[in-house]
Amino acid sequence: MDFQQIFNAAPDAIAQAPGRVNLLGEHTDYNDGFVLPTAIPQQTIVSLGLSPNAQHHFYSAELEEQIDFDSSDPIPEGFARYIMGCIRMVEQMGHPVPPLNLFITSSVPLGSGLSSSAALEVAVLRGLRSLLHLDLDDVQIAKLGQQAEIQYAGVQCGIMDQMASSLAEPGYLLFLDTRSLTRQVLPLPENSEILVIDSGIPRTLATSGYNQRRAECEKASAILGIKALRDVADLSDLNQLPEPLHQRAKHVVTENFRVLEASKGVSAERFGALMNASHISLRDDYEVSIAGLDHLVEILQSTPGVWGARLTGAGFGGACVALVAAGKAGAIGQTVLQQYNQPNPIGKILVGCVNTA
Ligand code: ADP
Ligand code: MG
Repeated sequence: MDFQQIFNAAPDAIAQAPGRVNLLGEHTDYNDGFVLPTAIPQQTIVSLGLSPNAQHHFYSAELEEQIDFDSSDPIPEGFARYIMGCIRMVEQMGHPVPPLNLFITSSVPLGSGLSSSAALEVAVLRGLRSLLHLDLDDVQIAKLGQQAEIQYAGVQCGIMDQMASSLAEPGYLLFLDTRSLTRQVLPLPENSEILVIDSGIPRTLATSGYNQRRAECEKASAILGIKALRDVADLSDLNQLPEPLHQRAKHVVTENFRVLEASKGVSAERFGALMNASHISLRDDYEVSIAGLDHLVEILQSTPGVWGARLTGAGFGGACVALVAAGKAGAIGQTVLQQYNQPNPIGKILVGCVNTA
């Protein structure tokens, strides 16, 4: 299926954007902290053109679903919210957007924690930039995508996903300060590449768990009298916090330290150890892991050639990421899945990324 087949015309603009995987710095972005994501090779491609009538027509090849609605009507539920969010953001900047025909196709897995939502937003915004000749840079696109997701899809996300989709490259780490948006492109550690495995466990509790953790972090910051947990200089400053706020804040603070250490350029072995420590912190202090993710991480960590592994994304299901010896991601992935998929074949390899550095 393509734009031509659905809309019986050629598109006027085509744009794409990648998904992302976060190597270190989980649940730090809404605490003004540090993150270390990379773009994955999978992309979302958006083709668009002017609608011949007063309606928007959005088609998703992955969902095999078309949404048609009058541009002045309320926005329908579902994936149209992400697209209309982007359109409304552009309109709020003073650029009217005409009714559109829009076709989406994507190799980014949906809802696995690889940020298909940010890939969709960034691709749509790049498409609008090209179609309407807008003067938007990559950081502006990331910010508009984030606001679209918050205000129209109702997800209180931080800025990491959209920044990674808009600015990161596969094979390189994007070291990002989510407060200042200062960033640096870094090579992967020597002799390493990235393996991402979907646990096959749906992220059922992810939204409620995520919102609860956010609220706990805000409460902890308020008690400490700081703007965000990023501003904690020393772990002992957290001693005045009651549980569970203390352990939540401890995760955020130690996770920031781990990202800062990794960003200085460490060996694959040390980077892997930081990922393992991140998983323990997410499991025990932040309490966003579940038995199935712990199991997959343990198999990864005990497989030869794996430098380190942890859950990635918000938790409660979804994917795990591992740093593995260069050239080994495919073989290691197969070995790990053989073990993990007993007795139920629910896990699958999402990314086996080549170190291009
Ligand atoms: P993630 O970003 O981790 O993949 P989310 O739940 O944040 O998971 O976003 C997934 C949602 O984004 C989908 O349910 C859908 O509404 C929208 N989306 C992403 N990619 C596509 C696509 N290719 N086609 C239609 N909708 C998409
Ligand atoms: Mg998302």
